Amino acid sequence: MTESLSGDFKKALEEIVGCNYVTDDPVTRFTYTQDASLFGGTQSALVVRPGSTEEVSRIAALANRHRVPLVMRGGGATIYGQCKGDPDRTVLLDMTRMDRIIEVNTAGMTVTAEAGIIIDKLVYACKKEGCYVYAPFAPVHMVSLGGWMSGAAGSASLWPDIVSITVVLADGTIVKTGGGPGTNVHQPIFYNRNLGGPDFAGLFIGDGGSFGIKTEATVRITKYPPLIRAGIFAFDEIEPALELVRLHVERRTLQRFDPMMVFAAGAMKNFMGDDDEVAPFTVQAMIQGHDVAELEAKLAFLNRLAEQCGGGHNFLLDAMAESMATPSEDSEMDWMAIFNSFGLPAWLPFTLPRQGFAGVYKKLLAWRDERLKEADRLGLHLRTTWDMFIPTDASTLIGEIDCFFTDVDNPEAIVFIRSLMADFQKYAHSLGSIDVYNQGFMADLNASCWSPGFKRLFELVKASLDPNGILNPGQWVGSYLNEQGE
Ligand SMILES: Cc1cc2nc3c(=O)[nH]c(=O)nc-3n(C[C@H](O)[C@H](O)[C@H](O)COP(=O)(O)OP(=O)(O)OC[C@H]3O[C@@H](n4cnc5c(N)ncnc54)[C@H](O)[C@@H]3O)c2cc1C
Repeated sequence: MTESLSGDFKKALEEIVGCNYVTDDPVTRFTYTQDASLFGGTQSALVVRPGSTEEVSRIAALANRHRVPLVMRGGGATIYGQCKGDPDRTVLLDMTRMDRIIEVNTAGMTVTAEAGIIIDKLVYACKKEGCYVYAPFAPVHMVSLGGWMSGAAGSASLWPDIVSITVVLADGTIVKTGGGPGTNVHQPIFYNRNLGGPDFAGLFIGDGGSFGIKTEATVRITKYPPLIRAGIFAFDEIEPALELVRLHVERRTLQRFDPMMVFAAGAMKNFMGDDDEVAPFTVQAMIQGHDVAELEAKLAFLNRLAEQCGGGHNFLLDAMAESMATPSEDSEMDWMAIFNSFGLPAWLPFTLPRQGFAGVYKKLLAWRDERLKEADRLGLHLRTTWDMFIPTDASTLIGEIDCFFTDVDNPEAIVFIRSLMADFQKYAHSLGSIDVYNQGFMADLNASCWSPGFKRLFELVKASLDPNGILNPGQWVGSYLNEQGE
């Protein structure tokens, strides 16, 4: 560690947050070199756990004065790794102490919370008031609100719901974005981020933490509809399944709690018995409503659309749909537990335009299946695959063709999976996929595809908000790609 960080700098941080919340303890620092991904966490000289926006502001101002790099950390649930950091210079800001709910506003239909809050706590606080807040299909017991907004928000669909973000800039300035009190001194209520000035909330969504440190956010909530039904249809080909998706998304805005999902056979097998027949594509649409008449009318209409596209019913699918008619008391994403029995995951996500989707999807599958032959030659054991896609709006499909291996403790499997994930993304990007994850390896890869104009805009914004480059240094500029010798 450099003299400035071990001595006076550490003392100055202790004065801001208290001695209990600053450490240079090697064991603690080591834990932050790990995260949920196979790509790695952050090396740091000091770890700090701020407790308020004001503390974060003073830390940033101090770090900026001394040109000390700050790397932000939420739940550590990245899929593609964190900023690498420097064991001699980096101060790691663990934001998870800032986990208070500030207000569940059921009159204005928003929730305001500190950015270090873990999503499950946020979901639970809203649920107690009968309200729903959108959450990722992710380990919700790990992901923080700030980490999600920074590292995954974009097409992962939270972004339209974010009304305001409180951000600390690199020089310590505290900014509240959003058309309510964030923008207008006469308006005390958060209600619409697009009013009274440019949409600066959008500037900080998916920035990977490079433009500022998020300390609070206000997010839209929705009342739960009391009843749900599912419509499930089997298709022999991808094209008619996509036609049903088109007819569905063209006529309505997709609601948060009634997604349409298309499962390919690999994913569907995981829900069925060994001897059950599985169609090549299964479309599952959730329908929610306020009374039985509303639900039945919606379901009848969906059935007509599915029939028009050649979608079929069968006894098993109808039984499955029936079993979904009871709303679960669980956290929305507790169904993620299904992955627990699958083994070591190779996450292979992609985001593509709906137009031209079928052709690209087939190429991605063919690419993956070639690489699975290589896994087989290496003696690795494929447990299952998880192939699915979902419309996130009328134009976009987000999907994954993940593979799971039984070789959980085999270091060779980990090396193989890491390269499978990286190579898959390079291939998918070359076919026009733009991934939602602005973090670690993926931030580098996304940036390597930027047009010259977009790159220039990014550089101008970064240089003006963070002229000394202290926030998440190394991100977007190729540290992961360079490591691979590219
Ligand atoms: C198994 C698995 C499945 C997943 N599935 C999904 C999914 O279906 N949908 C989805 O949306 N996501 C999914 N995720 C991804 C997860 O939501 C993102 O990786 C998210 O960014 C993690 O948030 P975190 O709080 O753990 O942040 P971290 O991993 O700690 O950090 C992520 C990035 O955000 C920055 N950051 C963190 N906190 C702040 C802050 N307060 N201010 C500024 N920058 C900050 C960090 O520097 C880093 O660059 C999945 C992850 C896993 C492990």
